[in-house]
Amino acid sequence: MNRNILILGGTTEAYRLAEALALRAGLRGVTSLAGRTSQPRLPAGESRIGGFGGSAGLRAYLREQGIQGVVDATHPFAATMGWNAQRGCAAAGVPLLRLERPPWVAAPEDRWESVADWEQAVAALRCGGARRVFLAVGRQDLGPFAALDDTWFLVRAVTPPDPMPPLHACRLLLARGPFDLEGERALLRHHRIDALVCKNSGGDATQAKLVAARELGVRVIMRRRPERPVLPAASSVEAAVAWVEALL
Ligand code: NAP
Repeated sequence: MNRNILILGGTTEAYRLAEALALRAGLRGVTSLAGRTSQPRLPAGESRIGGFGGSAGLRAYLREQGIQGVVDATHPFAATMGWNAQRGCAAAGVPLLRLERPPWVAAPEDRWESVADWEQAVAALRCGGARRVFLAVGRQDLGPFAALDDTWFLVRAVTPPDPMPPLHACRLLLARGPFDLEGERALLRHHRIDALVCKNSGGDATQAKLVAARELGVRVIMRRRPERPVLPAASSVEAAVAWVEALL
């Protein structure tokens, strides 16, 4: 009989886990995507798209589908889903693992300022007198930066913000990672960036901007990860596969 595993997805780690589970006999892996993008890349194995309807909806789904284990591999900043997963799995009596890539850690020569939210980031930019700011925050997080009315922004996003928030002055750069060090260094230099704002997403694909900022002495306003429930956790896909195998 197949064992049914639900992967809460939307990250590289979730795709890699789905691939690994698809190779194992006796497992039915289903990846769930939030449905934020119109043509998402489909994972290996089965998939479903769209919210569950809170933790109660997730509990009902787990029961209907006979799910025996859940891996929450959502993005470190997708905190709502993390709490819903904890409540839904506890209510359904289904084991839950958190798969999360480690956060980036500042090197001694880095000029990082840690903030809890974008309002604190705006305050840090204002206090530090930043004039030319690289916003690598995602298109849905730009709004608070419109409060800075004497700052020029370089905004990098995968798809155009719609609507575009009323930033005082900005240049929009549409690009999808991974980004390399040479390119990131050239970008910071070309636009004479004096501060970079980003989330502590971790991972290799978007780390080069931090190395470039270190080399060029650029300040980094780094948003900390939101709080998540305390759960059994894995920091690699291999460790998550071992957890799933231990359930069998
Ligand atoms: P969120 O705030 O934690 O979740 C909001 C709601 O979206 C949840 O309550 C849930 O709706 C639904 N949802 C989220 N992830 C889901 C999933 N994997 N499958 C089914 N429903 C899901 O999440 P978010 O920050 O909006 O991110 C949405 C998705 O994008 C996540 O899956 C995440 O992995 C991915 N992502 C997020 C970021 C980021 O910076 N936030 C970056 C890259 C990728 P219901 O309550 O109706 O179940």
